Amino acid sequence: CGIFAYMNYRVPRTRKEIFETLLKGLQRLEYRGYDSAGVAIDGNDSNVKERCIQLVKKRGNVKALDEELYKQASVDLEVEFETHFGIAHTRWATHGAPSAINSHPQRSDKGNEFVVIHNGIITNYKDLRKFLESKGYEFESETDTETIAKLIKYVFDNREFEDITFSTLVERVVQQLEGAFALVFKSIHYPGEAVATRRGSPLLIGVRSKHKLSTEQVPVLYRPGSIENAKNICKARMQRLDSSTCLHAVGNKAVEFFFASDASAIIEHTNRVIFLEDDDIAAVADGKLSIHRVKRSASDDPSRAIQTLQ
Ligand code: GLU
Repeated sequence: CGIFAYMNYRVPRTRKEIFETLLKGLQRLEYRGYDSAGVAIDGNDSNVKERCIQLVKKRGNVKALDEELYKQASVDLEVEFETHFGIAHTRWATHGAPSAINSHPQRSDKGNEFVVIHNGIITNYKDLRKFLESKGYEFESETDTETIAKLIKYVFDNREFEDITFSTLVERVVQQLEGAFALVFKSIHYPGEAVATRRGSPLLIGVRSKHKLSTEQVPVLYRPGSIENAKNICKARMQRLDSSTCLHAVGNKAVEFFFASDASAIIEHTNRVIFLEDDDIAAVADGKLSIHRVKRSASDDPSRAIQTLQ
């Protein structure tokens, strides 16, 4: 029932510091209630070519996860990551009993290519699961959330362009989802990148940098589509032109991003926040945060502002 994620971009942090930030974020969300917790972090330091994501999940409280984390991932606690993205979750089970396997992050496959944390309920998950099983994707949990992890891999596996962006993948996934969700994705295919989105469940992003921040409006192109013809989606003509709010530290400098379902987990790090609105997709790549809206209704206000928490 709580999401917390932390990206340090060009801000060296040890593995230990990253653990502490993630666990503290979860502790701040404990009051929301939960039955299990989990994190996904980079499995090896950035010097190692072979990329991998390590998952640590545990039924019980954040303290139990804390112990499990140090048990499973205590090697090289002092190793430093110049850029790293870690995601953390406390779960209030709606689909599937409280257990380590049903805890989040949920994953796309045994290689942890895509991992996702989710608050909310996907109401059409049975249809999506049936579709994905028919395509050979094997499920390991009873959660609605696992369909999201498998679906993004399906879209990735069937991509037309080698250089498809992480945010485009998430956009195609979101177009298939019904229900309520706040989601944060991490992937070995997009190291140092983050994508977050929401509909109905809250999600906000805190930004911290010593350097001047710049915001700009840039046009983005995207293509809507459906799961039945993922290949055709890619071939389809770009159909809509939207604008994206871009935010970055001027000169590609050090910046940190905090993603949380509640401001209480962010306020100790920064008071500069952006509240995502329904169907916003927020992506961080190269230290630059871009936000655009998947669907646009007449009442939408395209400008998304940075706010200061009181
Ligand atoms: N529906 C998801 C599950 O049961 C997410 C629950 C939550 O919001 O914590 O795993």
